[in-house]
Amino acid sequence: MLGTMQDWEMRVSGLLDHAAREHSGREIVSRWADGSTTRTDWQGIRRDALKMVQALRRLEIYPEDRVATLAMNHARHLVAWFGSTGAGCVLHTINPRLFDDQLDYIVNDARDRVLIYDAAFQPIVDRMKPRWPTIEHYICFDAGEHAASFEDWIGVEDGHAFWTPGDERQPCMLCYTSGTTGHPKGVLYSHRSNVLHALTVVAPSCMGLEPRSCVLPAVPMFHANNWGLPWASAATGAKMVYSQVNDPAALCALMSSEKVSHVGGVPTVWFSLFQHLDETDGTMPPIRVALSGGSAVPPAVVERLMRAGVRVMQAWGMTETSPIATVTWEPAEWDDMSFEEQVAYKSRQGRTLYGSEVRVVSLDDPVVELAHDGITSGALHVRGPWTIRRYFGETDDAVGRGQWFDTGDVATILPDRTLRLTDRTKDVIKSGGEWISSVELENAAVSHPDVLEAAAIGVPHPRWDERPLLIVVRRPGAALSQEDLRTYLEPSVPKWWLPEAVEFVDAIPHTGTGKISKKDLRVRFRDYRLP
Ligand code: ADP
Repeated sequence: MLGTMQDWEMRVSGLLDHAAREHSGREIVSRWADGSTTRTDWQGIRRDALKMVQALRRLEIYPEDRVATLAMNHARHLVAWFGSTGAGCVLHTINPRLFDDQLDYIVNDARDRVLIYDAAFQPIVDRMKPRWPTIEHYICFDAGEHAASFEDWIGVEDGHAFWTPGDERQPCMLCYTSGTTGHPKGVLYSHRSNVLHALTVVAPSCMGLEPRSCVLPAVPMFHANNWGLPWASAATGAKMVYSQVNDPAALCALMSSEKVSHVGGVPTVWFSLFQHLDETDGTMPPIRVALSGGSAVPPAVVERLMRAGVRVMQAWGMTETSPIATVTWEPAEWDDMSFEEQVAYKSRQGRTLYGSEVRVVSLDDPVVELAHDGITSGALHVRGPWTIRRYFGETDDAVGRGQWFDTGDVATILPDRTLRLTDRTKDVIKSGGEWISSVELENAAVSHPDVLEAAAIGVPHPRWDERPLLIVVRRPGAALSQEDLRTYLEPSVPKWWLPEAVEFVDAIPHTGTGKISKKDLRVRFRDYRLP
């Protein structure tokens, strides 16, 4: 027997229908690279997305065909998200910061038929065109000199159309992970996984979105499903503000002028925001919630945000988990915790939300599940309805027994079930047969007031196999020495974790998604000889 309730397919177009119906006038603001601002609203996004559906059909682009975007954050890109998925196509968001060989690989692997891009990326398009034989149509989001312009392309349509109907389990979006070894791998979200994830992002124990919220995604739309923020904002009818994500002055100004309440960003966004405020003697704009993920947010940053009255929601996840799996929702005893305890809690990776489960298993023997003692760390596994089962184009599942997916992260689970990430499997430093967490060394180092950024990597050692090298960017003008830093670290980490050497550098390299690039550091310090 089945339940006898109505059986509507959960497709992302339904989220937009709701936003346009109930919150038609809620604005979508775009601040462009030249400093100008344009405004539309949820009804405008829906009208344009339906025109795009018609335009795709006119080009004979069919359901399940891949429509790629190579673009930053703006309302036209949002239209393309809903337009391509509304036509039943698969939206493939390409990260423009990938290397040419990766761009070549992913477009051909995805077999993209259409590419819609920002004029700023014309050089990439010109360079890559000969290597992208599957792309039949190039469309430029800005008035294009070399390709049809997006506005002209959809402008000839009248918008009197319907979304392409289909099963909620059909594919809706394709995101490639950067792939630290081998080729990038495609994660193919379904309509259902994105809708379920969106409803969770909305929930009070995650972003806590409401129709009166104003969301600024300071994370690129090509990164990990944009953390589900476009879908979640449509589900609530929240206002959205789009801007270049690496311009702290612009972000800060928009947060105040547009009355932004919710911001999603990686820790470097908060760093550069604070740097900007310090340089300009500014005060923190009155945002309510800071969703932080992508890499660990240092306690000093959590504390500064909290002192400014911001609810910090550190989340953990990855492209393979849509991406949010755990969040630092406040436990029942929150109000009885001291400020220091609250900062410490928010500096961990949080607890699961309904829809995700996590466990840690031994790094040496993956069938041994580890105790939740907050000390023993092991390989982090995750599962749930918005976690990957199989990579795009593969024939084998990416999960083991019980559908557990091995994340490549190393973590420990505390007795209260809070997750604390201690490293990535490939970044842990193995010294004398014991594991040293590079992340914890980095966190301890960046809490020093003269340290702007720090990265720990293992370098070969004749006796201990590997020893930690700490690479540090000093605050301008600071005279911090190796010995000062080692003395400072002594009380916070075990003695044998203390870095064997400290190297001061002008800058630490970052990946396309703003994380410290350990891969580049390992290449740069490959021949490093410990003193
Ligand atoms: P990549 O970094 O390989 O491009 P993702 O963007 O999917 O891929 O990043 C996922 C990874 O980012 C996680 O596996 C984890 O290592 C790291 N990460 C995400 N959130 C956090 C967090 N809150 N704290 C620490 N690390 C995090």
